Amino acid sequence: MMILTVTMNPSVDISYSVQDFKLNDVNRVEKARKTAGGKGLNVARVIKLLGEDVLATGVLGGTIGDYITQELMKNEIKNDFFRIDQESRNCIAILHDGKQTEILESGPTILVEEGKVFLEKFREQLAEASLVTISGSLPKGLESGFYRQMVEIGWENGIPVIVDTSGESLRQVLLHEVKPFAIKPNIDELSHLLNMEVDESMNGLKQLLNNELFHGIELIVISMGGVGAFVKHEEDYYRVTIPGIDVVNPVGSGDATVAGIAVALKRKQTVQDILKTAMTTGMLNTMEAETGYINLAKFDSLFDLVKVTKVD
Ligand code: ATP
Repeated sequence: MMILTVTMNPSVDISYSVQDFKLNDVNRVEKARKTAGGKGLNVARVIKLLGEDVLATGVLGGTIGDYITQELMKNEIKNDFFRIDQESRNCIAILHDGKQTEILESGPTILVEEGKVFLEKFREQLAEASLVTISGSLPKGLESGFYRQMVEIGWENGIPVIVDTSGESLRQVLLHEVKPFAIKPNIDELSHLLNMEVDESMNGLKQLLNNELFHGIELIVISMGGVGAFVKHEEDYYRVTIPGIDVVNPVGSGDATVAGIAVALKRKQTVQDILKTAMTTGMLNTMEAETGYINLAKFDSLFDLVKVTKVD
């Protein structure tokens, strides 16, 4: 059985390093990097590195879609995406003068009919899956309740679904009577969702998680960057602290955290160990330049430094 990772709007992420970036002029780039991007693909890579079977799915198309599947093959990640006629997107990051300027294509518009066919494919893929992760935003054309439908299909098949998205899609997922198994919002996403400034004290977070929106979700991991996490598991609350580490590139650490949760759940770890695994994979991602990469050699020593304390 494998973990199915969903990426509905993957991209080829291009990064250009330019010494001194000039507007309205020619900028020549010597160092260009291209990688298959999208939050769900980061999740898939980290799951694979952790040694679990993974199948990457979602929607892609065109030659950019071909590039994404080729990159996944290079990483030996099984993939079975629904193919569309339109091109998948490029996302460009220009690194200049210690700054980062991003140009993000919104990507293809999915037809309602294509969305339906994808959902049928997803339903079939569940036959081989023990767990599903859904990450990132929806492409244009799909209504904001699309992930909610996927959570429901997971539930009908008895497969737990972890959802890591934001905005209206997250709200729709939470408003539905069928709940995801787990979510991993960060503080920003929570304050958007609840439309208020989040009180980050333990009591504040505890109270916040009492909001009706979160009822019935088994595991809620509020990831808090270098501070660790605050967690609700069933009726229990936990504060998770992490050691100080040398951060190289924090992008994608939330995705690595989701991968850690998924793998730990698959391995039927205790809640304490699930949280320690998730924090460790998040930290390991921050220690590498490459997004969605972790160095397993450092896993055990970091794992032992994560502290999980039950909050009364
Ligand atoms: P992203 O959107 O970049 O994927 P996120 O906001 O979803 O990230 P974070 O809360 O920033 O997720 O990070 C997830 C986990 O990664 C944290 O709980 C922690 O374990 C680890 N982490 C992230 N940033 C740091 C940091 N600066 N120092 C140590 N650990 C970190």
